[in-house]
Amino acid sequence: MAGPQDVAAGDGLTELIQARIRDIPDYPQPGVVFKDITPLLADSTVFNAVVARLAGTYGPVDKVAGIEARGFILAAPAACCLGAGFVPIRKKGKLPGATFAQEYQLEYGTATVEVHADAFAPADRVLIIDDVLATGGTARASADLVHRAGAQVAGIVLLLELSFLHGRARLAGLPVTALVTV
Ligand code: AMP
Repeated sequence: MAGPQDVAAGDGLTELIQARIRDIPDYPQPGVVFKDITPLLADSTVFNAVVARLAGTYGPVDKVAGIEARGFILAAPAACCLGAGFVPIRKKGKLPGATFAQEYQLEYGTATVEVHADAFAPADRVLIIDDVLATGGTARASADLVHRAGAQVAGIVLLLELSFLHGRARLAGLPVTALVTV
């Protein structure tokens, strides 16, 4: 069993992450294989190593933006590691103040993410974090929100990339890193 030092140094982290992500077939709808990260979050060694790796990918940054909802769980501790502020990127209608809103295409229909209009200082460097990159629409819309709010995207970092959905194609021109790609 690797200790936290070994994992933080990169030894076998990919395998540990893969071993702690559980496939749930046909959730939330038939044909979708949901990547459940709760076993990873419950393993303190892997959770700590993942947060350290996410935080170390594109520093230094002024803010870490987490995408609702599982992105919050990863981004908030990463922000603490970096001494940066945390900004929530939320689904439509959840933020109480004035917002920028960005709509994006889903396979059927559209979705919208929002950020507070005053979330960033001008030219803030922002690290965007989420758990899974699938078709890339959510991450693209989040990056667009950061730009519209006057800040820079230092990078987008994902725990897991589903490469067969080609999400990176929607993120052209942006620095993107996934800890694990399947
Ligand atoms: P997309 O916009 O298609 O890249 O979808 C990414 C967002 O949807 C992320 O916030 C993920 O949490 C969630 N997501 C998409 N597909 C999955 C999946 N197979 N398992 C878990 N979460 C997913």
